Amino acid sequence: MTDLLLTNAVIVTVDPQRRILFDGAMAVCGDRIQAIGESPELLSRFPDAKRTINCAGKIVFPGFINTHNHLFQTLLKGLGDDMVLKDWLKTMTFPAARFLEPEDCWGGAMLGILEGIHSGMTTEVDYMYPHAREGLSDGVLKAYRDTKIRGVFGRGCMDTGTDFGVVPEIMQDRKTVEKDLTRIFDTYHNTENGRIQVWTAPAALWSNTEPMLRMLYEISNSYHAGLTVHVSETPFDRTATQALHGSCGVDCLEKIGLTGPNVLMVHCVYLTVNDIRKAGEYDLKVSHNPVSNMYLASGVAPVGQMLQNNITVGLGVDGAASNNGQDMLELMKTTSLLQKVHTLNPTAISAEKVLEMATIDGARAIGMEHEIGSLEAGKKADFVIFNPYRSAKAVPVHNPVSTLVYSSTMQNIESVAVDGTFLMENGVVTVVPDEEAVLRQWQKIAERLAQRAGICNRGAGHPWRR
Ligand SMILES: [Zn+2]
Repeated sequence: MTDLLLTNAVIVTVDPQRRILFDGAMAVCGDRIQAIGESPELLSRFPDAKRTINCAGKIVFPGFINTHNHLFQTLLKGLGDDMVLKDWLKTMTFPAARFLEPEDCWGGAMLGILEGIHSGMTTEVDYMYPHAREGLSDGVLKAYRDTKIRGVFGRGCMDTGTDFGVVPEIMQDRKTVEKDLTRIFDTYHNTENGRIQVWTAPAALWSNTEPMLRMLYEISNSYHAGLTVHVSETPFDRTATQALHGSCGVDCLEKIGLTGPNVLMVHCVYLTVNDIRKAGEYDLKVSHNPVSNMYLASGVAPVGQMLQNNITVGLGVDGAASNNGQDMLELMKTTSLLQKVHTLNPTAISAEKVLEMATIDGARAIGMEHEIGSLEAGKKADFVIFNPYRSAKAVPVHNPVSTLVYSSTMQNIESVAVDGTFLMENGVVTVVPDEEAVLRQWQKIAERLAQRAGICNRGAGHPWRR
């Protein structure tokens, strides 16, 4: 039985042939794509679909995959501006992390996911590293359930790093982490029709000892899950990692044995030629976060060299404390423009490659390329309906991929579905009762957290910065 039939659409499949169907149709049965083809063909094949949506003039894309985030930071937008990474950690994110309550994690995650949905995100990878009290992971995981988003939850940790500003209150020893990880895996991994996956996520190589890193990777492997870790984000990251482990970058991962294809490295701005060669050989994956790298002035990741070494590179918005947003569309445009200007070469990266990074390459980065990342019969029905006529910016459309990457806004993202269920339809989010009311609620949650943590640097009467 066909539950849903989209007709008369431009369908950008991102399938192996990279087909774009200009009078396309897509049939959905339950949580999966039943068929994709020309509209007349599918209309005659599925005449009694329960629901048909005429998508004339609209474009259907695979849902976008955000491969890196810290959802609790959504509450910290605007508090970490104009700082270098070390100060940003010391004076803003670490203090905030210390005072987090489960309700903050839930509210921050709901808010971040909601913004993500408006920008066409269907899969989220969160990375929850501070644990000053119990139940913080459960706050984020509750938001995954409440929003019905597809979510990888990276349970993070750190057991060292006070020399570099890590506050002891958010650190945990190995036994505590192991016990909580086992609980989280057993409670949440592969639940909600497989939408929720649990991973391990050591905060950084410089903030976790070797026994901790080994334990995390063993647990990931025993649950057939992945591990994600910040690697070579800044020169400081490399120096501190070198000081703790005697090596840094991919050499350090190699030394500790974190070299499987289920390892997703984040940032990788300062990978060396040697690191990149090894990462390609080990099939390590990369999450590229250009907006965050620009915001913190970390630098420009060598994406071109990574791609030349056949490294899978997905895109990440990163936490909103180093982005101030969760916008996948802004992320795609930034990815392209940053590589072009950095290399002084307009052909450095194409809109098509950027869309691949946000879809099929992102899926490969989290080991889910057989389930999501493209629109193909048999895959999960995670998709976006894009309506160019909801904003002048997107008109005219001469090339649907160019329009998406360079000329779109969140207004164009009309409907978003995960597992064949609309999380947003015609611009209205269906997973919360009243969007404006909950946004006002989350504003209050954010204000209370900032007050408790003493980081309200932009409140009434704050000095104008020059
Ligand atoms: Zn991060």
